[in-house]
Amino acid sequence: MFSYRHAFHAGNHADVLKHTVLIATLQYLTQKDAALTVLDTHAGAGLYRLDGDYASKSGEASEGVLKLAQAPVAELAPILQDYLAMVRSFNQGSGIRNYPGSPFISQALLRSHDKLKLFELHPTDMRSLAGNVAQLEAGRQLAVLHEDGFEGVKKFLPPVSRRALLLCDPSYELKTDYGRVLDMVADSLKRFPTGCYAVWYPIIPRPEAHDLPRRLKTMAVKAGKSWLHATLTVKSNKTSERGGLPASGMFLVSPPFQLKEQLKPAMPQLVKLLGQDGNATFTLESGG
Ligand code: SAM
Repeated sequence: MFSYRHAFHAGNHADVLKHTVLIATLQYLTQKDAALTVLDTHAGAGLYRLDGDYASKSGEASEGVLKLAQAPVAELAPILQDYLAMVRSFNQGSGIRNYPGSPFISQALLRSHDKLKLFELHPTDMRSLAGNVAQLEAGRQLAVLHEDGFEGVKKFLPPVSRRALLLCDPSYELKTDYGRVLDMVADSLKRFPTGCYAVWYPIIPRPEAHDLPRRLKTMAVKAGKSWLHATLTVKSNKTSERGGLPASGMFLVSPPFQLKEQLKPAMPQLVKLLGQDGNATFTLESGG
């Protein structure tokens, strides 16, 4: 069984990028009244304690969300203000102890007629997720599935609602995850060409990690879809003696049309606030 526990990484720079993009995307998709289905292929535990054993041990949130939260909020790009407001909505007072994962973020933004399908394979995270979502009393609108997310999404595509966002956020603990992401997106685009697909990936010195966005772009272009690719690097991958992820990216097929404009002022701010050495940088590209 896998050893990855997202609780060690909750609120790190990769979560800041991923969840900022997720919030902006869902805000856009919920502007229309028509029902939306959100498929979260790798859900994690849903809600995390930043003062718990896992997060305290890794200290990653202190270089991510907690650092961002120290900046004067009015000076932040609106998309980052929305991200911090979302995180703060799970906390009381000025401190940030609770951190919402993608399931809780989605649930907070969805309406009563939308659907949320959460896949989680690890028994421990599955138990935490089931316990956490039980507090939400979301009823039939929300389903937690103890299944392989790559396979499980197939039965929901195309969705009854004919509108969907699929978030694919694996831990990439297995090298095969990269290929499975590509197969899943290719298959999903065939089943449901008009869906919005969002893939998170780590930028690490591994050929599969470099190939993934390139191949997603080729896939989007071939399918005649628009795409957006945002990456955030916080440090050199050579100087990370303390370990930790140096960089990550989000690749979207059929992103909200204004997402790039929203990210333009946010990305340099993330570099400035979360950068850990002179290698900190970002990229923001789109096409289609
Ligand atoms: N999406 C979450 C968030 O943003 O809060 C974090 C997810 S974490 C990066 C990846 C999760 O996927 C882990 O909890 C892991 O146990 C789970 N996992 C690994 N392989 C899986 C699979 N094939 N299907 C579903 N879940 C899987």
